[in-house]
Formats: sequence, structure tokens, C-alpha cells
Amino acid sequence: MATKEAPTKDPVCGMDVDKADCVQESHAGKEYYFCGEECCEKFMEDPDKFIGKKNLAKK
Ligand SMILES: [Zn+2]
Repeated sequence: MATKEAPTKDPVCGMDVDKADCVQESHAGKEYYFCGEECCEKFMEDPDKFIGKKNLAKK
């Protein structure tokens, strides 16, 4: 039990992503996973915006 990896979240859009089928990018020594290139690009433009705060509500 409890050997399953926790679902990985796309830090940009917040959806769960499958590590086997996603865009991967490393930043500051950590790996991040994205649902697609668009989210990855947004993240790399301004990573702190997405990892500094838990759930930045968009309006
Ligand atoms: Zn996404």
C-alpha cells in the first residue's frame, strides 16, 4: 500500500498530469510537469509566479 506516486500537478493550470505523458522541465533543482508546451512556456517565463504561492486565483 501507499506505494503509488502522488498525482503530479501542473503548476500552471492545476490539473493532474501523468508523468508518462506530459512536458517535463526542471527549475531550481526540481522537476515540474505540465499538461502541454503552453503551460511549460508560461511557467518558464515566470516560475516564481507559479511556485511561490499555492493557488493564485486567476481573475
Ligand atoms: Zn496545464
